[in-house]
Amino acid sequence: MDLEEKREKRPPVTPMMIEEEAALRNGSRGLPPGSWAEAAGPRPRTTERHIAVHKRLVLGFAVSILALLAVTMIAVLLSVRFEECSAAADGPPRASGNGSLPGAARQPPGAGQPPGRPEQEEEEKEARGGEVVEEEEEEEWQRRRELPPWTRPRLPRHLRPLHYNLMLSAFMENFTFSGEVNVQLEVLNASRYIVLHAHRMHIEAVRVAEDKLAGGVRVDRSFFYPQTQVFVVVLNRSLEVQKSYNLKIIYNALIENELLGFFRSSYVLHGERRFLGVTQFSPTHARKAFPCFDEPIYKATFKISIRHQATYLSLSNMPVETSVFEEDGWVTDHFSQTPLMSTYYLAWAVCNFTYRETVTKSGVVVRLYARPDAIRRGSGDYALNITRRLIEFYEDYFKVPYSLPKLDLLAVPKHPYAAMENWGLSVFVEQRILLDPSISSISYLLDVTMVIVHELCHQWFGDLVTPVWWEDVWLKEGFAHYFEFVGTDYLYPGWNMEKQRFLTDVLHEVMLLDGLASSHPVSQEVQQATDIDRVFDWIAYKKGAALIRMLANFMGHSVFQMGLQDYLTIHKYGNAARNDLWNTLSKALKRVGKSVNIQQVMDQWTLQMGYPVITIVGNETTDNVIVISQERFVYDIDAKPKDPALGDSSYLWQIPLTIAVGNTSHISSEAIIWVSNKSEHHRIPALEEASWLLGNINQTGYFRVNYDIRNWRLIINQLTRNHEVISVSNRAGLIDDAFNLARAGYLPQNIPLEIIRYFSEEKDFLPWHAASRALYPLDKLLDRAENYNIFNEYILRQVASMYLKLGWPTNNLNKSLVQASYQHEELRREVIMLACSFGNKHCHQQAATLISDWISSNRNRIPLNVRDIVYCTGVSLMDEDVWEFIWMKFHSTTAVSEKKILLEALTCSDDRNLLNRLLNLSLNSEVVLDQDAIDVIIHVARNPHGRDLAWKFFREKWKILNARYGEALFMNSKLISGVTEFLNTEEELRELKNFIKSYEGGAAVSFSRAVETVEANVRWKKLYKEELFQWLRKSLTH
Ligand SMILES: [Zn+2]
Repeated sequence: MDLEEKREKRPPVTPMMIEEEAALRNGSRGLPPGSWAEAAGPRPRTTERHIAVHKRLVLGFAVSILALLAVTMIAVLLSVRFEECSAAADGPPRASGNGSLPGAARQPPGAGQPPGRPEQEEEEKEARGGEVVEEEEEEEWQRRRELPPWTRPRLPRHLRPLHYNLMLSAFMENFTFSGEVNVQLEVLNASRYIVLHAHRMHIEAVRVAEDKLAGGVRVDRSFFYPQTQVFVVVLNRSLEVQKSYNLKIIYNALIENELLGFFRSSYVLHGERRFLGVTQFSPTHARKAFPCFDEPIYKATFKISIRHQATYLSLSNMPVETSVFEEDGWVTDHFSQTPLMSTYYLAWAVCNFTYRETVTKSGVVVRLYARPDAIRRGSGDYALNITRRLIEFYEDYFKVPYSLPKLDLLAVPKHPYAAMENWGLSVFVEQRILLDPSISSISYLLDVTMVIVHELCHQWFGDLVTPVWWEDVWLKEGFAHYFEFVGTDYLYPGWNMEKQRFLTDVLHEVMLLDGLASSHPVSQEVQQATDIDRVFDWIAYKKGAALIRMLANFMGHSVFQMGLQDYLTIHKYGNAARNDLWNTLSKALKRVGKSVNIQQVMDQWTLQMGYPVITIVGNETTDNVIVISQERFVYDIDAKPKDPALGDSSYLWQIPLTIAVGNTSHISSEAIIWVSNKSEHHRIPALEEASWLLGNINQTGYFRVNYDIRNWRLIINQLTRNHEVISVSNRAGLIDDAFNLARAGYLPQNIPLEIIRYFSEEKDFLPWHAASRALYPLDKLLDRAENYNIFNEYILRQVASMYLKLGWPTNNLNKSLVQASYQHEELRREVIMLACSFGNKHCHQQAATLISDWISSNRNRIPLNVRDIVYCTGVSLMDEDVWEFIWMKFHSTTAVSEKKILLEALTCSDDRNLLNRLLNLSLNSEVVLDQDAIDVIIHVARNPHGRDLAWKFFREKWKILNARYGEALFMNSKLISGVTEFLNTEEELRELKNFIKSYEGGAAVSFSRAVETVEANVRWKKLYKEELFQWLRKSLTH
């Protein structure tokens, strides 16, 4: 799953991201208040909407009545009797003859009720009705002095589902569905209870039989237990061990509007709104779509049938086996049976999309489904093409074939994550899969590519071999994230993603987060369903990936690959825990004659939070001896005493430290030193007077390295004289380490700024990117300071010469150029971004000229790769017409990538009234997509003129925001960190603490992280701001 899985750009938490370029600072002019609202307001479409809704209501009602009559008659004719669910609200069976199997499955739920939210009321009633029964049951268990099995956070272990037959009817006209599930159960321990997950549905009938034909086992009663999201069936006798039973449940529910479970979404085609239904079950939402054993360990086979109007098509994990058409314009698709799989990556969809198709060498049929206009434009062709190649890549790399006959990629307008890896039916939000080559930048292309590489990796890591439980979600997410880079290298060999971009986008990114005292281990215990979303955070994704990369490097890539092949082969169609992986990898190492206890090493990295900073100090008295020490790195050293565990020596890691010695023209080959103590002495050969030491070669390790000042000076000299002696990845590593060590107070503030002085000669993208990312938070700490312009001036000086050398791109890249010039174009983009955001005059002028040309000619000739920079600079510098123009374009463009950067550009104004209006409009779903609203708020918070507005807006609208995003925790945590991370005054810290005291709702983890971050910001300003400005003043006068 990709958070935003989650592909979000700035720090915390979101599954896979390319990070965010430094946002642009605003210029001095803005739009006059009021000028925007008229242009901005969504055109009221009340009339059409009412008519449409009215028609739907009438139609829905008519269909419901007809279906009700039909069902009743069939039921009476067949006289099929069912145990009524005792949880049903009013006790007595409903008059509709619900018991009839075929009828019930077809009956629109809520027949006779108006569409709306009947389930909520229903559920409340059920909960009340259930309470009485449940209390009786609980008393019985109390007498036995045991906890009732349904109150425990995990399902009881006495039953195991073997196979599910699931028949669904989707009623798109009133957004309801009905279902009949038949679960074949194996009894491991005798019990009178069946406890399985079911949430937010109405259960019509329950029946238990020894097998499908034999007589039933009487159901005494049944009830929901909402606290653990389970449904309990109490039988009049025990199920017998080793016998197989069939559990049949008939139910109905809503096709929700909230992006989880079986939900609906919509798009406009030829001016008409069209709807689709699609699922998102990970991690715990399958239970909202059908009663099931909704834990990953309960793998079973599934046979799904979906009945829908013939104007729609239906999709699921497997291909359609047969379709049965009815005369009334309905059709039932019967899908082939799945292999053994967990519930969370089961999926289906009902839509009227079209598709394009390709076939892999091994015969896997790959289709991309999207809205018809996108398919016609060819927007899915890029994704389709790379998917075919990637399946071939993974089959070759893992030596395990793709397991299903087909893979569908479904591009949906709305989704809670960037994408979800459902086996054979992976779902992507449109912005992460559709791509129009004529108007997409390289970074957008890279973004799309990596999301696809990620989800395809999951077809093996996740779908084929599944973590036993959610504490090890990083086992699947870490691998998928790591392989984003390996797989992209396969598609674009010149891009060096794994060796380079991984550093800035993953390693540096997550070390920011994991350097907080309030971080958590990558493996984290979790029990309650409501807590499970919490484990999908950047620590799981990015730290997981960084640890896997460190492991691959110290094992050697080919042995690592062999080990993975064994792991997948041994555990396919099953579940595995981290120790299964460590054991398999240790065995692979043994086969090549190496012996490392991988479990022992990796347990320290996965079960302890944070990471070490290694300090290498030359020994003054003994030649060639260095002292290497380790301690836990934290940004807020003051946080240490608060947590005694941080101060003592309990945090120790076994660290594979690679080290090399360099002099003016040469660097030695690397040696590996395993550091496992607090402090160790090591002898280094050939250490001469002028040699410097470099640790963590190519930054393959998940830790920071600090040196004595003498060594830092030697390194700075080396960079100035001949930076190429030090590798590109090490240059980026030195930059990131130095800025962050200084930010945390381990290093004087001037060292990082001195390091980037060689930048007039730096022609590689990665060190620029690392610097730009490290400068960004520093800039945000200073951007409202009085002396800000000194800092500004210093950065502009370092950027000026490369900006002049590189110039602006002159025309749009064509496809063949993409491969060759990626590094160069990204470098140019980075330098232009720094120049424009720090106020380079030429850069501002160029942006203004390009915008004016666009407005006057109505032809957008702005090079794709710098459009976001130009739009934002234009909005911040130019008059209100520009904003209105950008706003108009935001509404009229259909290309998703373009829409996003146009929207973000609107946050670049320095007019506070307009920023406020934009914030208010962001919550209007008709104007701004739900998932984009968060970006609007965060981007306003990054703007120094809007920071306090976004912060105030966030506090005022917290209830609405929490209700909207609370369930997808990563979104909430992205929002919370995005709005608070650059607050840095005592006053703001007080406001944050007061808000936390008074707020209602979850997200405690995100808020404590926010407090720590703001405390560290305030502390840094108090201790180091003046030191930095003094050095800058001195430096600028020289
Ligand atoms: Zn994932």
